[in-house]
Amino acid sequence: MIVVMKAGCSQDDIGAVVNRIKKLGLKEHISQGVERTIIGVLGQNLLDFQDTLQLLPGVEEIIPVSKPYKLASREFHPRNTVVMVNGVAIGGDEIVIMAGPCAVESEKQLLDTARQVKADGANILRGGAFKPSTSPYHFRGLGKKGLEMLAKTREETGMPVITEVMTPNDVELVANYVDILQIGARNMQNFILLDEVGKTRKPVMLKRGLSSTIQEWLLAAEYILAQGNEQLILCERGIRTFETSTRNTMDISAIPIIKKVSHLPIIADPSHATGKWYLVAPLALAAIAAGADGLMIEVHPNPALALKDGAQSLTFESFRQFMSQAIPIAQATGRKLATSGTKVKS
Ligand code: PEP
Ligand code: MN
Repeated sequence: MIVVMKAGCSQDDIGAVVNRIKKLGLKEHISQGVERTIIGVLGQNLLDFQDTLQLLPGVEEIIPVSKPYKLASREFHPRNTVVMVNGVAIGGDEIVIMAGPCAVESEKQLLDTARQVKADGANILRGGAFKPSTSPYHFRGLGKKGLEMLAKTREETGMPVITEVMTPNDVELVANYVDILQIGARNMQNFILLDEVGKTRKPVMLKRGLSSTIQEWLLAAEYILAQGNEQLILCERGIRTFETSTRNTMDISAIPIIKKVSHLPIIADPSHATGKWYLVAPLALAAIAAGADGLMIEVHPNPALALKDGAQSLTFESFRQFMSQAIPIAQATGRKLATSGTKVKS
């Protein structure tokens, strides 16, 4: 439930409410708004305590939170969360572009791609070092070597990097090399992994599970937030439906729904959502129009030779073309594409 404090109440009033919440064995979560403070209350049997909290000085009203997820809900946290990654703001007024190969294959492949996508306006470099793979016979990534290449490319280009972490044991290792920890669709409900990334203070991007509802996805987000990591980004990457013309079905409606029910930034990944390079630009533009805070797009120097996901990877040329189409669509929604953040290392 939420304790809404009166506009202009004193810090002592807020402190007294927080003390009472703690004494009752509950947890508090404070949001300091421009006009008023709201205090989220977490715990069991909350409605039993509603009347006693209502009596405290400075309390305007108590509102029960209807959603099963609390920390992820906009009811609890009305203002947008903005995740800062080396000077790039995700969830602010500008649209952030994450681009790069599905998998890190070599130093040259990664550096060439990073330089090119950066020159065309991408803000963050993606690249998988630990690859989840449906078939055990497909490329499963370069592992630690891939992480080293990501870190080196970050030094050389100044681009922050995002990569997937697949197991709780690897969280510390991956966090030492990259700027954003990605939880892949297949691991959305790996609760031990969610706890582990929640214990770090690194930004995390949580992809929607292959067949997960929006509520299940936000409950997975709740695991990370409940561990105290508030630097959380969501990513819609398509869901499994009966349709076979595309790899997945991109749930565009998830974007405005997330914006309505949650304060977390939402990124769209049209590459995994469609599985086909020629569908990436149209769906990416649709995601911007629907209000996405950013995009994640797979780009490869030579998709025909890619070790993974070549069919959905854009060439340098098609990425550049897409970026020029994205500018007027962003403008039509009253926003613009983010210009790159500060350099990681000068
Ligand atoms: C990826 O982004 O590298 C990936 C494997 O995506 P997903 O988890 O959405 O399938
Ligand atoms: Mn991929």
